[in-house]
Amino acid sequence: MSEFSLIEKYCQGIGESRSDTVLSVGDDAAVLDLPDNKQLVVSVDTMVAGVHFFDDVAPAKLAHKILAVNLSDIAAMGATPAWATLALTLPEVSESWLAEFSQALDCTAKQYQLQLVGGDTTKGPLSLTLSIMGHVDAGKALTRSGANIGDHVFVSNSVGDAAVGLAVLKRELELDNQQHFINALEMPEPQLLLGEQLVGLASSCIDVSDGLLADLGHIAKKSQVSMIVDPVQLPRSTPMQQFADWQKTMQYCLAGGDDYQLAFTVPAQNLDRLQQVVKEFSLSITKIGSVVAQQSETVMLEHQGKIIEFNHSVGFQHFA
Ligand code: ADP
Ligand code: MG
Repeated sequence: MSEFSLIEKYCQGIGESRSDTVLSVGDDAAVLDLPDNKQLVVSVDTMVAGVHFFDDVAPAKLAHKILAVNLSDIAAMGATPAWATLALTLPEVSESWLAEFSQALDCTAKQYQLQLVGGDTTKGPLSLTLSIMGHVDAGKALTRSGANIGDHVFVSNSVGDAAVGLAVLKRELELDNQQHFINALEMPEPQLLLGEQLVGLASSCIDVSDGLLADLGHIAKKSQVSMIVDPVQLPRSTPMQQFADWQKTMQYCLAGGDDYQLAFTVPAQNLDRLQQVVKEFSLSITKIGSVVAQQSETVMLEHQGKIIEFNHSVGFQHFA
């Protein structure tokens, strides 16, 4: 199968047919209309076989995940997703692989009104690079740098499940209810609705990809503040609560990564409005700490006034 028929068959017409897409797959570049008074928000993520996923993972799961991790970055900015481009490197042309991949990509993209408007197709070790574009009201994007002393620190839904899923797939753990954890790893749900609702309410925001502590640390650094987090308050799923080993639980929840939840800070005067949107949209968020006056720009763990030492606080780092 030639590169061109491959593109036509599996890369064209993926996702929503958006009215603000002037020119999509098939020309030298896409042409896109940006609404008035909006700013373009752009992010890119790569997933490499053997590094970010196991070689034998189902193509449908890969398609979902490459979109989800990128959508999560858009959510963290408080933006609305619109378009994506995909650079696909394949070791060989397997039509059954491509068919499953392309169908899943279409399905998840449509769920978020996202359109695939271009890309690149090459031969080589399996790797996916998705670039995503969205928009946000001019000047209103959520950033890592706006946290202030006295703000409350929140995280959405629950953390740690994906890290348990990874441990299960690596055969470090064996559990009765392991499918819940594997799903959390393979099928993360980007928190777009929450992100959009946090615009004008949150002072800073990040998506949890490297581990909660490491990612809150990015807010602390960029905002030049410190934070206190109470590990006992961390939201844990019901299967996670059944874990007996507290030390391990903390490691998964604080340093696990791949959660794709939003961690954010909210000034006290916005808490009432935050509660309103949580109720209106049935969102799930938990207060886990506060922003404090200290020069160190770090995240400290504290429970009932006692500092807790935790030495797995770096999260997952490439080249570490
Ligand atoms: P060029 O050589 O001009 O860069 P290509 O031959 O690489 O163009 O691609 C032809 C068209 O197909 C372009 O519009 C490109 O954006 C699109 N395309 C190529 N690969 C993909 C892909 N994996 N997903 C989506 N669109 C793709
Ligand atoms: Mg060209």
